[in-house]
Amino acid sequence: MSKVKSSETVKVVIRCRPLNRKEEAAAAVGGIVEMDMRLGQVVLWNPHGPPGEPRKTFTFDSVYDPSSKQRDLYDETVRPLIDSVLDGFNGTIFAYGQTGTGKTYTMQGVWLEPERRGVIPNAFEHVFTQISRSSADRQYLVRASYLEIYREEIRDLLDPNMHAPHVPNVHTHTYRTLELRESPESGVYVRDLTSCVCKSVKEIQELMNLGNQVRSVGATDMNEHSSRSHTLFLITVECSLPGPDGRQHIRVGRLNLVDLAGSERQAKTGAIREDGSLLAEEKQRLLGEKERMMGDLKKEWDATEQLTAKYKVLYTHTHARTHAHTHTHTHGVVSA
Ligand code: ADP
Ligand code: MG
Repeated sequence: MSKVKSSETVKVVIRCRPLNRKEEAAAAVGGIVEMDMRLGQVVLWNPHGPPGEPRKTFTFDSVYDPSSKQRDLYDETVRPLIDSVLDGFNGTIFAYGQTGTGKTYTMQGVWLEPERRGVIPNAFEHVFTQISRSSADRQYLVRASYLEIYREEIRDLLDPNMHAPHVPNVHTHTYRTLELRESPESGVYVRDLTSCVCKSVKEIQELMNLGNQVRSVGATDMNEHSSRSHTLFLITVECSLPGPDGRQHIRVGRLNLVDLAGSERQAKTGAIREDGSLLAEEKQRLLGEKERMMGDLKKEWDATEQLTAKYKVLYTHTHARTHAHTHTHTHGVVSA
């Protein structure tokens, strides 16, 4: 099993789902793909190509073949990121790939079957287990938001107006669309997004179910809808812990769990180019953002140093954090 390098902040992981029955019937004898989980490599070949045509090898931070288990992906790739969020870092996991390649399976899976539970339910469990095991002098506050981007509009899936009993027919109720804003303090954020405090796995699951109801009742065809909608579940973990100065310090970590719309639909609207270059661009953008954050951090740190030098006081910087991002790139087998 390939090990994800823990020092890197942006990781690209490939998962290949098993063929379904129809694909199996149409698949080329001998297949077209091989995955080496130890080396983190995907090898592709053309079954109709001339003899001796070289195979193409691609290397990623990790690869998961069709026999891989939800738990393996979680433990190796996701768990370290969630631990960082609990330590006050920001983290993002997003699934990217064509419709039907296993994004939702990877992110959600089958909630009622422990073996087939995906990233999101496992992350819920993980966050609350870690909190329950933490020392008594730490206090945590977990808040969740759930939103969907559908046809370029941002919809708040936890909008109390959508769930209020006075809304007689949610089908006719119009979504309030939200705006994306940016501020120097909090970076990019969605204005007026509902945020709900959750005290247990049960509560956070209920919130997700509530949000899912809003998604599905608004849609005439749920398959069509989910292949065009990006869903984002955001968890903010605030921890108040005593510092060496004897005072309480607040540390905040944010986890973004993203199930993207199918990439082929996006290609038509031009948001993602045909060659799938979004990932490369996004990685570049995130690295740029990381540089910027590191710069900010350094400035803050320098200011702290000056402060300690000037007043000779002991000051621990408890807000230091940077962005750690993981991308889960899910991929289906193209049957030849
Ligand atoms: P997407 O969200 O990318 O459109 P889905 O997650 O809905 O794709 O997956 C398409 C189908 O393949 C679903 O029926 C799903 O249960 C199945 N599937 C996806 N990944 C796996 C996997 N790793 N193991 C078994 N079945 C899978
Ligand atoms: Mg999906």
